[in-house]
Amino acid sequence: MKHRLILQILLVMILSANILRGAGDNMPKATICDLHCDTAINLADGKGTGGAAKKSRVTSEKLKAGGVGLQVYACWVSPKYRHRKAWDRTRQLIAAVKKEISDHPDEMMLVSDKKSWRECRKSKRIGVMLAVEGGHVLDGDISRLDSLHAQGVRILTLTWNNSNQFATSAYSAHKTGIDKGLTPLGRKLIARADKMGMHIDLSHSSEKTFRDVVKTSRLPPLLSHSCVNFLNGHFRNASDKQIKAVADKKGLIGINFCPGFLGDRHKPVSIESVADQFEYIKELAGTDILAIGSDFDGIRETPEGLDGPDKLPDLLNMLKSRDFSQKELDDIGLNNTLRFFGWQ
Ligand SMILES: [Zn+2]
Repeated sequence: MKHRLILQILLVMILSANILRGAGDNMPKATICDLHCDTAINLADGKGTGGAAKKSRVTSEKLKAGGVGLQVYACWVSPKYRHRKAWDRTRQLIAAVKKEISDHPDEMMLVSDKKSWRECRKSKRIGVMLAVEGGHVLDGDISRLDSLHAQGVRILTLTWNNSNQFATSAYSAHKTGIDKGLTPLGRKLIARADKMGMHIDLSHSSEKTFRDVVKTSRLPPLLSHSCVNFLNGHFRNASDKQIKAVADKKGLIGINFCPGFLGDRHKPVSIESVADQFEYIKELAGTDILAIGSDFDGIRETPEGLDGPDKLPDLLNMLKSRDFSQKELDDIGLNNTLRFFGWQ
């Protein structure tokens, strides 16, 4: 009798272990989107897949481990590149991301619309979306937007820290106290972007640029990698007014993991500080506008406990422990982004 009981217990243990292992084979599900990483620079400048790849926080292995199904690769062009050189650098960065995809054909795929996204999901690959960070790469030539679109780019971060022919940046406005917002040429750029479905990212834009674009564009506003100004008064962070405007227009905010934008500058920044951002925006404007915009490989340091895409499930688990429902977690992870792009 005793032996039979032990046998039964053993059998149950083996069965449950198998069930768990079975579930583990499919886990984690690719349910996360990250709206911003700067890995393209590493790929272009030699810290790519071979050898020095370990220096990149964003790799196909870590994306897979974190269940990332969609990763936006921003092609950030330093303002030190000007005119023709800025355009050449943009093309070099785009080519580097495309090479990364072609080096991992079974794992990654370029996505630029609903059709390619569906195909990507079906083949269980990681969707790679292209963004360009810094409107100065256009050198005032709006027709270059068509060229970016043709190359698969779907997001243009209107300014980086430097203002350009189209708009004032948050950094310039902060530094000089002058905020001219969108220029007349900037308005033309927005009209063209609207027409072709190029999303304008306002993460580095000044307050007036933000207001002008929200008023001008027919597309919902995007802050791909920003935090909350109320929690940390950094000039890059979004004010309550901006967060509410994003919610009114059914836009999207990807929370940035840059320690300098998070929490209290005098305390060590951890995954908890990132969760605080989500909680604050949930209270203020709801969860429909929330997403992740890590800025991995663009930020020098990362919050404690959140040093790569493989740790993203830990962030969602933390939000769960803070009473976010499963639906809210699914929305933050991926569904808000799919709704934003119209890919549902
Ligand atoms: Zn940025």
